[in-house]
Amino acid sequence: EKIIIVGAGILGASTAYHLAKAGTEVIVIDKNDEGQATDAAAGIVCPWLSQRRNKAWYKLAKGGAKYYPTLIASLERDGETDTGYARVGAISIHTDTEKLSAMEKRAIKRKVDAPEIGEITVLNHEQTKALFPPLADGYSSVHVSGAARVNGRALRYALLRGATKHGAVIISGNASLLCKEKEVTGVIVDKKEITANKVIVTAGAWANQIIEPLGIQFQVTSQKAQIMHLQIPNESTSNWPVMIPPSDQYILSFEDQRIVIGATHENTVGFDTRVTAGGCYEILNKALQIAPGLADCSILETRVGFRPFTPDFLPVIGPLPGFSGILVANGLGASGLTMGPFIGLQLAKLALGKELDIELSHYDVASAVCK
Ligand code: FAD
Repeated sequence: EKIIIVGAGILGASTAYHLAKAGTEVIVIDKNDEGQATDAAAGIVCPWLSQRRNKAWYKLAKGGAKYYPTLIASLERDGETDTGYARVGAISIHTDTEKLSAMEKRAIKRKVDAPEIGEITVLNHEQTKALFPPLADGYSSVHVSGAARVNGRALRYALLRGATKHGAVIISGNASLLCKEKEVTGVIVDKKEITANKVIVTAGAWANQIIEPLGIQFQVTSQKAQIMHLQIPNESTSNWPVMIPPSDQYILSFEDQRIVIGATHENTVGFDTRVTAGGCYEILNKALQIAPGLADCSILETRVGFRPFTPDFLPVIGPLPGFSGILVANGLGASGLTMGPFIGLQLAKLALGKELDIELSHYDVASAVCK
């Protein structure tokens, strides 16, 4: 069995790793687009506090968070220790104690079938500030010990290096599909044809560009996100928890005094990779209200990424309707670092005809396709 994977963000990299580990001949192709979601991502792995009610979405997010320790252990056995994953816990902050106790109740309910959530503790302001010193006055929190942060860039490289160790070949280039009478037989990269038994398209926000020539529209939209990296002087940030405020923003802390704040949600700007004044203003304004202690940070960089969304805001996974030899997965949206490794495992199982851990009919690719 020879399989080509087009697109090596977190999803393609995970698929490649699992397939190569299973002994499959794997070729990974990526055109290194500016704005790759995985490279810009913040890295929160904490799906249990979300108020989103969609069960099919939650299944993937919960399964994703649960799968992380297994994947990290597997990578470590392959000698890949720089995975960017750390279970530092998360604090979900609020000024309203009633809201916090509702959040605690929700978390306790979800712990029943997700023990990986860990300890759930309500912390007063002093306790919360002790865990995250830059915090503004008035905030208390719910602390969840099983939450993690992950550096998407580091994990993606670890997965790709791991895949290579198991024989995968990685090619840099822009792939288009080879198709004969509704059967995808391989790809063309740099005018060179490469054939395979199957092609898996994990091309994120750019997927329609590769699928459209087959005569169908793949309805993935891109949502631009700008995200800022700061450096805080005189603090040791390695073990600070992920911070989830009541707004649409978040604050993560990494090693080397790095603090990541963001991100914007820009729906109508297309593939505009610019860092804008308005974007940075919004991010800094919101972050400094919650964490005025960040005011003295230096600004290291601002990254831009495109979150891939389907019309139903739900990932799609499976064969491309009307064609053979091609599998597609997409639409990981704002939680793709959480779900990506787990969905990659499912895609690998699907390609190899193995039994899946998810109900594929909930993620039907047909829902994102129009002829
Ligand atoms: P991508 O990472 O975008 O990868 C797609 C790849 O396909 C690209 O590398 C591109 O070059 C390649 N490609 C496309 N077309 C072709 C072609 N024709 N030939 C070759 N290569 C091709 N998720 C969380 O769980 N937690 C978070 O805290 C979080 N924070 C985020 C913050 C930001 C700012 C952003 C942008 C996203 C965040 N996400 C988060 C979401 C997550 O990053 C994405 O859902 C996920 O990375 C999507 O992965 P992907 O592999 O589908 O796409």
